[in-house]
Amino acid sequence: MNHFQFKGTELYAEDVALKEIAAKVGTPFYAYSHATLTRHFKAFDDSFASVPHTICYSVKANSTQSVLKTFINLGGGVDIVSGGELYRALKAGVAPRKVVYSGVGKKDDEIEYALNTGIMMFNVESEQELTRISEIASRMVKKAGIAIRVNPDVDPGTHPYITTGLKNAKFGITIDRAMQEYTRAMTLPGIDVIGIDMHIGSQLTKVNPFVDSIEKLKIMIGKLRSQGVDLKYFDCGGGLGIQYNDEEPPLPADYGKEIVAATKDLGMHLIFEPGRNIVGNAGILVSKCLYTKARDEKNFIMIDAGMNDLARPALYGSFHGVLPVVKEQDGMIVADIVGPICESGDFLVKDREVPMFKQGDLMAFTSAGAYGFAMSSSYNSRPRVAEVMIKGDKFEVIRERETIEDLIKGEKIASFLVS
Ligand SMILES: *Cc1c(COP(=O)(O)O)cnc(C)c1O
Repeated sequence: MNHFQFKGTELYAEDVALKEIAAKVGTPFYAYSHATLTRHFKAFDDSFASVPHTICYSVKANSTQSVLKTFINLGGGVDIVSGGELYRALKAGVAPRKVVYSGVGKKDDEIEYALNTGIMMFNVESEQELTRISEIASRMVKKAGIAIRVNPDVDPGTHPYITTGLKNAKFGITIDRAMQEYTRAMTLPGIDVIGIDMHIGSQLTKVNPFVDSIEKLKIMIGKLRSQGVDLKYFDCGGGLGIQYNDEEPPLPADYGKEIVAATKDLGMHLIFEPGRNIVGNAGILVSKCLYTKARDEKNFIMIDAGMNDLARPALYGSFHGVLPVVKEQDGMIVADIVGPICESGDFLVKDREVPMFKQGDLMAFTSAGAYGFAMSSSYNSRPRVAEVMIKGDKFEVIRERETIEDLIKGEKIASFLVS
């Protein structure tokens, strides 16, 4: 069931008219449906009900505290890629033992922070990182649980910017090197070898690349077992895609069936790091039409949200649906929907038939829950927007709109500039 639906001519989030939210908080704003977040998390979790597993939600897709708390309340852990994300997740109440830490550039202070916290494991992405973690853990008289992120060299068939499991990608350690690194890891004093990890890309719309990668890692696991290295955790990463437009990604249940079949005989505890799959279609961005203009064959609709608020179209040329918040337009028009930013890449919709929005009309960009607010910035000195969460017939502001004072927080004018 879709929780962003029209009732009559008005678009609702669960049982709240978006028009009402806009009247209270202004525009633009992100809106998340609590029921949708919950349903998506459970659908993913249920797909693995037959095997021991932990869902470590990928914080970077949407790191807002209330979103994290929603999943933590459902028993979820988190996948983090920085000390900042660890701080956010801990503040939201995550159990440290359900935290996995990925990323190619972990800094010393971040490693220390994670060790002090007592996270489950580090997903190690390079030989030097493994050495560094061991050194820091030894100094702290601790053992760091680790998995090696293996780069299986499988093409996930997605956008090049979000492909991570090919040999030329910066992520992980290639299979041939990874065997050596496991052998070395066993001898390192600060290291407890507990898992194996992969994450091959984002917005995958087929299960095959996951299964192909798992098969490659299984060969490694077999070899390691014959050397007496018995791994407990198999982290399958994230990356399962969603429908933005006409994609047909597998349902979590179908994905689950194939992954369980491919891993069952290993008897390992599975970890998943879904991000987009859970939050993507649980959020929308609501904006207002400021002006329209027609020029030769081209129509422009200028709105109060831009690429600084939702970067995906500018960054990847990606598609977001657009719906009127109140259906009151006189037909359709082919137009670009553009933001106020002084860049030609600042568009949310390009050459598409859309409702004939006029000044003051509200519109909602769909599938904006993942990599939406989390990627937003204050470029052009535009305060970052508000976020609200809807549950039933209630909504709450879960992040205040930034103020213009916030924009210069932490700045100071150099003393030699003032006389
Ligand atoms: C980004 C990321 C994820 C989440 O990817 P989605 O496509 O949003 O599911 C999971 N694991 C790692 C290591 C990541 O970098």
